[in-house]
Amino acid sequence: MGKKASKPLIIAIDGPAGSGKSTVSKIVAKKLALLYIDTGAMYRALTLKAMRQGIDLEDEDVLVSLARNTKIGLEEKDKLHVLLDGEDVSLAIRTPDVTANVKHIARVPGVRHEMVALQRSIANKDGGAILEGRDIGTVVFPNADYKFYLDASPQERAKRRCKELIESGQIVNESGVKKDILMRDDSDMNRSVGALKKCDDAIFIDTTGLSIDGVTEKILSYICA
Ligand code: C5P
Repeated sequence: MGKKASKPLIIAIDGPAGSGKSTVSKIVAKKLALLYIDTGAMYRALTLKAMRQGIDLEDEDVLVSLARNTKIGLEEKDKLHVLLDGEDVSLAIRTPDVTANVKHIARVPGVRHEMVALQRSIANKDGGAILEGRDIGTVVFPNADYKFYLDASPQERAKRRCKELIESGQIVNESGVKKDILMRDDSDMNRSVGALKKCDDAIFIDTTGLSIDGVTEKILSYICA
C-alpha cells in the first residue's frame, strides 16, 4: 500500500459503531490537513429526509429517487456541519429514531450508488481526504493509499456510545445501547451491497483498552512511516 504522490491522498477508515473511527478520523484529518468525510452522516441525512416526508422506507424506487434529488453537503467550520438541501441537520441526524432507521436506506443498492459517487467526488476535489464509514476500503476507494479497520469489544463500544449520547443530552441505558449496536452490526454486516467487512489489505486495529491518542498515534505511525 504505497503512497501515490501524484494523486490526492486517500485514507479509508472502516469499522462498526463505537469502534472509535469518527473521533480518531477527525484528529488524523486535522493533523494531516486533509478533508474529513463522515459518510455515516450522509446516510443519516437522507434517512432524516425520508422520515420527514413520511416515505415508505421499504419502497426502494422512491428512496433511490429521493437520493438523486437531494443535496447533501459537508462543511468544515468550527466542526463538521452536515447540510441537507442547505439546512444544517448536524444535530437532527443523531436522534435514536434516525439511528434506528438508517438501515432501511443503507441497504438499497441504488441509494448506495448515489452516495458512493458523491463521496468520491468530494474526496477527489481537494488534495485528498480521510473517509470513515463501513465500505470505504471495499467499495468507495478500494485503491486508497491507506486502509484501516477499527474494532473493539461490544462492551467497550456500548460504553463509548453511551458517553457520546449522554454528552449530547440524551438519556441512555447501557444494555439497550449494546443491543442496538449489535443489531446495527448485524444489518451492516449482512446487507447485499456495501456490507461492513475488513478487506484483506486493511490494517486492523483493536481499539479496546486504547486511548484516543493511542489509536491516533498507531494510525499516524503507518502514514508517516
Ligand atoms: O457511522 P454512523 O454510525 O453514523 O453510520 C450510521 C449508519 O449509516 C450505519 O449503521 C450504516 O448502516 C450506515 N453507513 C453505511 N455506509 C457507510 C457509512 C454508514 O451503510 N459508509
